[in-house]
Amino acid sequence: GIRIENLHLSFGTTKVLAGIDMEIKPGEFFAFLGPSGSGKSTLLRAIAGFGPRPKGRILIGDRDVVDLPPWKRNVGMVFQSYALWPHMSVRANVAFGLEERRMPRREIGPKVEAALELVGLLDLAERMPSQLSGGQQQRVALARTIAIEPQVLLLDEPLSNLDASLRVQMRRELLALQRKLQLTTIFVTHDQEEANTTSDRMAVLDGGVIQQIGTPQHLYDHPANGFVAGFLGTAN
Ligand code: ATP
Ligand code: MG
Repeated sequence: GIRIENLHLSFGTTKVLAGIDMEIKPGEFFAFLGPSGSGKSTLLRAIAGFGPRPKGRILIGDRDVVDLPPWKRNVGMVFQSYALWPHMSVRANVAFGLEERRMPRREIGPKVEAALELVGLLDLAERMPSQLSGGQQQRVALARTIAIEPQVLLLDEPLSNLDASLRVQMRRELLALQRKLQLTTIFVTHDQEEANTTSDRMAVLDGGVIQQIGTPQHLYDHPANGFVAGFLGTAN
């Protein structure tokens, strides 16, 4: 699991995370909802080790990772624009992260194939990204992240580039994969329905502060304050 304690982060004089405290259980699918600019991506990036060093603690397992570089944190992150390397095949894109981690070549092949198998793309391994649909590219981005066998999976609006029907299909696939691998997952989304249908628990963030944490049902039935009520109410 992950535990975040009293996390603060500023860009210059702008406070973006203002004391985040939360715990995510091993194997949990946890969603973050919040308006644009509320600090969702900043929080995910801080967990992954990108951006300025925050104040506070980020425990993954029982290790405080705040002072570790991204590649030593055992987290995998899929970004909103899951830029694949355009000049590399699907296989090479997935292998890249493993090569970067200096994994022995004989181990890389099987790991890449296993990850592509999991996302159902083994038969497209030799294609170039430009020869794939949006959903297929998204699966490659996911395979690339899963291949490193992260302890924690961080997903920053990974489906937002997809059209509506593909989004629904991909979120089902994502959830099935997460359950199968029992991966502790944090999923950032703008889409309430996406959060409701996938997450074990979710948090609503505003102004760098968690307004409420709980099961989707609990947040809808018992919003903690006017902001949560309004935020969850308006888009329904
Ligand atoms: P969205 O839903 O639009 O993706 P978000 O909740 O992910 O929004 P963040 O990207 O975390 O929001 O941004 C939070 C705040 O921090 C915003 O006000 C943003 O302008 C600011 N911010 C983000 N990155 C930087 C940066 N590198 N330098 C300065 N300010 C930044
Ligand atoms: Mg964002």
